[in-house]
Amino acid sequence: MGKVLFWIIVIIGALLAARIVARHQERSQLNNKQPKQVKKSINPEKATESMVRCEHCGIHLPRSEAVLSKGRIWCSKEHADLQERP
Ligand SMILES: [Zn+2]
Repeated sequence: MGKVLFWIIVIIGALLAARIVARHQERSQLNNKQPKQVKKSINPEKATESMVRCEHCGIHLPRSEAVLSKGRIWCSKEHADLQERP
């Protein structure tokens, strides 16, 4: 009888430990997800994107949309070509 009781206690203890670990993982996953959602709503990449100025027409545009040529910034390839010609 003593051995049977011992194994019952071991099995119950293992099940309780597995439940505690599963709950802990769920909580840590929730904690990891929440900050990411906050970052997405702010969208730091677009918020911090710098504006640049075309050297031909002076229009301001996001750096990602600008044309870079020989270290100078243009709004389009047409304006880059205009300034590069002698
Ligand atoms: Zn331009």
